[in-house]
Amino acid sequence: MSNTPIDFIDLKSQYRELKTSIDHRIQAVLDHGQYIMGPEVGELEDKLAAFVGGGECITVASGTEALLIALMVLGIKNGDEVITSPYTFAATAEVVALVGATPVFVDVEPDTCNIDARLIEAAITKRTRAIMPVSLYGQAPDMDDINTIAGKHNLAVIDDAAQSFGGTYKDRRSCSLSTIGCTSFFPSKPLGCYGDGGAIFTKDAALAKAMREIRVHGQERRYHHTRVGVGGRMDSIQCAVVLAKLERFDWELTRREEIAQRYIRSLSGSNVVTPPVIRSDRTSAWAQFTVQVERRDQIIKSLNDTGVPTAIHYPVPLHLQPAYRDICRVSGNLVNSEHIAGRVLSLPMHPYLSEVTQDMIVSRLLTSAVSA
Ligand SMILES: *Cc1c(COP(=O)(O)O)cnc(C)c1O
Repeated sequence: MSNTPIDFIDLKSQYRELKTSIDHRIQAVLDHGQYIMGPEVGELEDKLAAFVGGGECITVASGTEALLIALMVLGIKNGDEVITSPYTFAATAEVVALVGATPVFVDVEPDTCNIDARLIEAAITKRTRAIMPVSLYGQAPDMDDINTIAGKHNLAVIDDAAQSFGGTYKDRRSCSLSTIGCTSFFPSKPLGCYGDGGAIFTKDAALAKAMREIRVHGQERRYHHTRVGVGGRMDSIQCAVVLAKLERFDWELTRREEIAQRYIRSLSGSNVVTPPVIRSDRTSAWAQFTVQVERRDQIIKSLNDTGVPTAIHYPVPLHLQPAYRDICRVSGNLVNSEHIAGRVLSLPMHPYLSEVTQDMIVSRLLTSAVSA
C-alpha cells in the first residue's frame, strides 16, 4: 500500500470506469470529422442547461474565456470597476484587467474563504459595473445577499463557478444563481474534459445570443461581424468527453460528498486541523478539500515525505501579487485573505479515493500536525 502513489486527483481510475463511453464518444467525432461546432456541442449545451435547471448554456474554450466573454457582453471596459474576491485563482481578476477595468477586492469570510457579502456595499462607487463572486472550492457564497445588493445598485452578477459545477445553493444549482454563471472543464475540476473547456450560463436570451456571437469573433452570420469577439469555442472532442463523464457525474458528486463528510468526521476531534465549513443551505461540489492548519510548511513536508500529495489554494492573495497590486483597488482591509493564505492546505480529493487511502491520509496528517 505504501508503495502505491496516492493521487491528488485520480483521472486514471475515472477513465477506467468510463472507458467504453469516452472512447465511443471520441470515436464518433473522429468518424464524422466535425471537430469544431460538431453535433456534440449543441447536445452538451442542452444537457448542461437542463442540469442547472434551465436557461441557456454556451460552451467556450476555457473557464477564463467564459469570464472574459461575460465581461465583454456586459460592455465592461476601461474606467469601470468590478468587485471580486482577492482569494481566488488569478483568472478571476485577470479578465477584469484584460477588458481594461479595475478589480476591486473585498475581503473573504475566514471559514468559507468566500467573499463576505456584508462588505460589498461599502466597495460600490459610481464606476462599479458588476460583482464577480467566486464559488471557492465548490461552495457558493451568500448569493441571495449578493443579488439583492446588485439589484439595488443596478449591477450585474457574474458567478465565477469554475470550481462549483454540481454544487447547490438553496436547492438551486451553481451556475444558475446570477445574471451569468461561468464554469470550467479543466481536467482537474469536478466535471473536466481532456484539455481546456468551459461554459457560460444565463437565463437572459439577449445576453446568450450576444455571447454566442462573441464566442465566434463577433459574427452574427458568417463573415458578418457586428461586434468585437474572440476565438472562444470549445471543440467537439472536448464536448464528447464531458458528455461521457456527465453520465456518471451524479454518482461522482455523491461520492465526493461521502468522502468529504468522512474527512470532516475524522478530523472533527482535532484541535490542530480545522476542516472546511459548508453552510447548511448549500452543498459543495468539492473541487478541493481544504483544511486550515498552523505551521503548514512542516506539515506539507512530512506529508509529502510519506507519499501524500498536497496543494495550496492559494498561497498569495491577488492584491499582493506583482501583476495586480498596482492595478487593483482594495476596499477596507483584506486581513482574512492574508491570514488564511498562510493556513490553507488541500488534501487529495476525488470520487475514487478509497477508505483505506483516506484513513492513511488522515492519520499522517494528524500525526504531522501534532508533531509540527
Ligand atoms: C480554474 C479556474 C478558473 C479558470 O478556468 P480555466 O478553464 O483553467 O481557464 C477561473 N476561476 C477559478 C476560481 C478557477 O478555479
